[in-house]
Amino acid sequence: MEQGKRRFSIGLTGGIGSGKTTVADMFAERGAALIDTDLIAHQLTAPGGRAIPDIHAQFGAAFLTAEGALDRGRMRQHVFSDPQAKSRLESILHPLIRIETERAADAASAKQAAYLIFVVPLLVESAGWKQRVSRVLVVDCSEDTQVRRVISRNGLPETQVRAIMAAQATRAQRLAAADDVIDNDGDSSALAPQVDRLHAIYSKLATQQ
Ligand code: ATP
Repeated sequence: MEQGKRRFSIGLTGGIGSGKTTVADMFAERGAALIDTDLIAHQLTAPGGRAIPDIHAQFGAAFLTAEGALDRGRMRQHVFSDPQAKSRLESILHPLIRIETERAADAASAKQAAYLIFVVPLLVESAGWKQRVSRVLVVDCSEDTQVRRVISRNGLPETQVRAIMAAQATRAQRLAAADDVIDNDGDSSALAPQVDRLHAIYSKLATQQ
């Protein structure tokens, strides 16, 4: 745990559909080690995942699929209308995510990657993340672009996409928390020069730390 803490690290965040995964993959191609907290959360709530026994105990079998995974759709609806349920679910998931994230950070450090990138969709919304990372990188685009991308990727109705966005930090709140910003409102070809520039800066800062 301590080893991961000492490594130079980036917390990469952005709203739904802003392009976090696209940008994170580009940093990985250049030699950064990625730690995807969404992926970790999925593993914890997959069949046999470490969060499943507590979810079962606190919410009941109705919130599990036939395979024994968290029924994400059902849980999403439930916590949307019940803030207490939301905080109960978070009190199960957050400590486990933290443990698994630090384990992944240690494994990545042992592999001598240039630096670590934690991909954290709700970094601005969650206590503690800003202190955990050396710099916060926000992938930014307009809300209309977010809506367009999520509709074309997931086929969700616009009202649902906007409701998810309303439950996240605002664009202005994320930008206020950013040390660095990648503008992803344009074509994907506009990303490479921005990623190259930041990768050069991060690689240098990582050697100085
Ligand atoms: P989520 O929070 O929903 O997981 P995300 O922030 O990780 O999303 P991506 O999955 O990288 O975002 O991108 C969302 C969608 O938009 C994907 O289908 C991706 O291929 C597309 N996309 C990302 N950036 C661009 C771009 N500059 N131009 C066109 N499409 C893009």
